[in-house]
Amino acid sequence: MSPLVWYDLFLFVLLFGVYVYVFATARITNLHKVYFLFHGLMMLWPFCQFAIVLSDNPGWQLFYVTLSFVAVSLLGSGWLLLTIFITGYADLLGKKRSFLLFTPAIVAAVGVMINPLNWFVTPLEGGYVERAYGPWFWFVMIVLVSYFVASLFILFGALRASDKSPTIKKQVKITLWGIFVLAIFAAIDALLNVVLRAWIPFIIPGLTSLGIFLSDLFFVYVIKRYNVFDLVSIAHEDVINTIPYGILVLDENDTIIEANKASKSVMDLHVGDCFDMEAFLGSVRVEGGSSQPFLDQYKKKENKLSQIEVIVERDIERHFILQTSPIVDTFQLPIGYILTLQDVSQERYYVKEMNRQNEMLQERNHALDRIRQELSEANRKLEELALTDSLTDCYNRRYLTQQLTHEVITNVHYKTPFSLLLLDIDYFKAINDRYGHVIGDEVLYRTAQAIKQSIRGTDILTRYGGEEFMIYLPHTERQLAQKIAERVRLSVESNHMMVNHEIGQVAITISIGILSIEDFEVEHVPDNPEGYLTQLFATVDKALYQAKQNGRNRIEFAELERGVS
Ligand code: GH3
Ligand code: MG
Ligand code: MG
Repeated sequence: MSPLVWYDLFLFVLLFGVYVYVFATARITNLHKVYFLFHGLMMLWPFCQFAIVLSDNPGWQLFYVTLSFVAVSLLGSGWLLLTIFITGYADLLGKKRSFLLFTPAIVAAVGVMINPLNWFVTPLEGGYVERAYGPWFWFVMIVLVSYFVASLFILFGALRASDKSPTIKKQVKITLWGIFVLAIFAAIDALLNVVLRAWIPFIIPGLTSLGIFLSDLFFVYVIKRYNVFDLVSIAHEDVINTIPYGILVLDENDTIIEANKASKSVMDLHVGDCFDMEAFLGSVRVEGGSSQPFLDQYKKKENKLSQIEVIVERDIERHFILQTSPIVDTFQLPIGYILTLQDVSQERYYVKEMNRQNEMLQERNHALDRIRQELSEANRKLEELALTDSLTDCYNRRYLTQQLTHEVITNVHYKTPFSLLLLDIDYFKAINDRYGHVIGDEVLYRTAQAIKQSIRGTDILTRYGGEEFMIYLPHTERQLAQKIAERVRLSVESNHMMVNHEIGQVAITISIGILSIEDFEVEHVPDNPEGYLTQLFATVDKALYQAKQNGRNRIEFAELERGVS
């Protein structure tokens, strides 16, 4: 044999290596790769069967026998893998499971390659065209049959499973036929060429090969008929199953023709079931009251998109926006519906939480407001206490100074007349001396009440000193001030106070000094308010002194000295 033949073989091996490399690394789906592996293994069998007979060299014959049985050893695992992909269980295959799945096949193949002690095959008549199989052959067969049985198990399981679509079920049925055909041919081959070999004078060739070919036709039919290898369909399925929205596609009779994974977490419905919208809405709570308008529109099957929010309570409460949009044909006639369920629980939770926190904030604000009001009330009371005289219930001198410091200046500025009355109880010391301080206090209090009765609401009565009172009369000229002073004097004079039964009635009188500021021809706006007020107080005090001097229980007017402020 020419050594150049080996060169060609070398190139073949190289090309084969590249071929395997391309398929292993190409960006095609695992399903594609599995099929090419499977198909390659299937091709090896008939090729090797043919090649064995061609060669006279026992070494080559053994090589082809080995190769064909390595292919057969692996064929079962390839078959199982393809079955798993076709039935849609591929996502359950992890690395560990894949390894377990291939282990028996690899063990069988390695045994075939090593052929220890001719356990697998023994040459007859000096070559391997006629051969006797050992126990390892039967081990390979058992492995192969086990894979078939496992495949059958999965296929029948998929046929019974309620969550498999009718399309998958149809694919499974055809695949089952493929297996059946191969199993029949392989069994006949084993029976005639291995079991009954002693009684049959010649080998009947190509039985298993024919079975492999026919079963592959079933696979090819499934692949072509149902677009199993179609990347767009695979991507479509992937997209629809990984999307977080629940999607149901209904036909015109409300039968579910597609239901993605996300939809199954909301409703226990499968492809082929009838979707009853009314029953579904009856089993959930509807956000915002009635589902009737939505249901009415849905039943009318109008060419319109509509939506409703529902609350599904299983283990936890979940909110969904259920949207229905019709599928229309080219004449715009409805031929089905797409239902989507969007989980908006997170959003609703955030809104709820925000409202709850807002309410809490509002409550806190109210509480703060209440505290603020209480504080301001307490402050007002404190201020009142600080500005009120506790014995007579009149304002105190501090209040008077505080009020008048600016008011008198404003009065002068706007030429508004005002008057001040300074009152002093006559011979009050004698009251104390005669009746004691407690009675003296009582007399002071009652006198203050009598004065209060005889002045106007806008006038301000203050306790100026021990038994002295100051009355500020706003908008009051001298004449009116005199009238009021007279009224006050008379009311005190006539106020006979019944202090107790032993003492009987006590009466006192008061002397009053009056100061009226009304002549704005001569009055100019003072630049020192405190000083001006002190000057006013001193002046009215002089008038009071005058009243005392002139015999008490009387009124005297004061005149402001100009130019002092
Ligand atoms: P007059 O004013 O007419 O000249 O004689 P008077 O006796 O009233 O003289 P003066 O104004 O000097 O005396 C005031 C007295 O008032 C002295 C003090 O004992 C008494 N007094 C001052 N404050 C109080 C008080 O709060 N309660 C009592 N019970 N007496 C007071
Ligand atoms: Mg006095
Ligand atoms: Mg006095």
